[in-house]
Amino acid sequence: MGREAIVAAVKAAGVVGAGGAGFPTHIKLTASADTIIVNGAECEPLLEVDRQLLSLYRHEVLKGLEAARIAIGARQAHLAIKGKYKSLVDELKMAAASRPWLEIATLPDIYPIGDEQCLVYEVLGRIVPPRGIPIDVGAVVLNVETLYNIARAIDGKPVIDTFVTVSGAVAEPATWQVPVGCAIQDVLSWARPLYDPASLAVIEGGPMMGDLVKELQSPVTKTTKGLVVLPQNHVLATRLKAKQIVLSRAFSVCSQCSLCTDLCPRHQLGHPIWPHRIMRSLAGDGVLDLEVGRGALLCSECGVCDQYACFMGLSPRRVNQALKQELLGKGSNGQSSGAKSTFSWLQEVRQGFYESQVPARRLLYRLDLARWAKAAPLKGFLPEPARVVIPLKQHVGKPAHCLVQVGDVVSRGDLLADLPEGEFGAFVHSSITGVVSVIEGGTVVIERGGQGE
Ligand code: SF4
Ligand code: SF4
Repeated sequence: MGREAIVAAVKAAGVVGAGGAGFPTHIKLTASADTIIVNGAECEPLLEVDRQLLSLYRHEVLKGLEAARIAIGARQAHLAIKGKYKSLVDELKMAAASRPWLEIATLPDIYPIGDEQCLVYEVLGRIVPPRGIPIDVGAVVLNVETLYNIARAIDGKPVIDTFVTVSGAVAEPATWQVPVGCAIQDVLSWARPLYDPASLAVIEGGPMMGDLVKELQSPVTKTTKGLVVLPQNHVLATRLKAKQIVLSRAFSVCSQCSLCTDLCPRHQLGHPIWPHRIMRSLAGDGVLDLEVGRGALLCSECGVCDQYACFMGLSPRRVNQALKQELLGKGSNGQSSGAKSTFSWLQEVRQGFYESQVPARRLLYRLDLARWAKAAPLKGFLPEPARVVIPLKQHVGKPAHCLVQVGDVVSRGDLLADLPEGEFGAFVHSSITGVVSVIEGGTVVIERGGQGE
């Protein structure tokens, strides 16, 4: 299959970046780069999707990688995975032996090594410029599940399921293949939470970068990777609930110890971001020093500063989030000296780069998660739910245009929504066979037995 056919198949299947915000993959595949990095780092504690896919669906992942390589025109690919998974690394090296273009890159067990910019530096030794993306240094980074979905797309199969690890305070931590649109509550019930619904909290994403689930009936989407169940009074749940308080305390009690800056991965990569200076700048008369404040735009929101570094319980990350909204609203582009290429001072990472990295094991204890660090093996398909709520926007870009009407009978895999040619976004498909019962609020509701059953 040639480049154009691969891109068309991936577009038709509605593939989006499964490991992040859901960037449409067919757009990514139109880039030209010499190198692909497969991001198998999965550095968020307790999540296991990538490892399970590389163990059990390796053939599909490598098939997707081969197609992506053709589309992008890459000469080489590096599959990056933590070195601590020794037997999996050995198996992957055997698979790479017959693929001269593929290398297995072993990563240290640190957080956030899966951050694209940290990953590109670790694997290729190239520094992505501030506010840049890996293609600026000749690389495209693709997530493991995304490659699995590319392989399926080549066979004409759309993205209708996603892989989700359910872990934390549950009797049966596991990874499941879940129909898109299934209620989070339904997924949780298979893991058997150790707390009743009134006294538990659920983080969607991961403990470091995820957010609290406000409504357990909300749907799983193409980008859902993990559900971490915690007691409501757990430190992570409390911090996430207290975002606003954290923000208002931030400016008054910061001791300026600068630990947040010393441990900030983006700062250590040499980017002009100093979280402690941002805090200081706002602490005085509340007038932002713009040169310092623009650093907020370079924040990856990895959470090292608030979840790990700050002993005062402050959150430079939340401050940065607020500043981003403010600055982007005012049209700041975050560049202090023009185009990306003018960052000529970016020759190397800062002194102390390696010493400042956060060991994943220590992070588990700091987050009070060590007691729940258990294997979450892939258990297969979650039983098909009676009802799914499928969002028309599960991706970066515009919502897809709905093609169905209430009362339509749809089959699993049918196209529900597409986009006019040239519009940025991704197609959406039905994940179960049933009847469209409601279309509202940017979602399509499908019920297995038909309306009202
Ligand atoms: S680690 Fe906390 S107290 Fe120290 S400078 Fe950063 S925000 Fe302030
Ligand atoms: S969240 Fe904190 S540690 Fe992470 S990039 Fe932003 S400022 Fe740096």
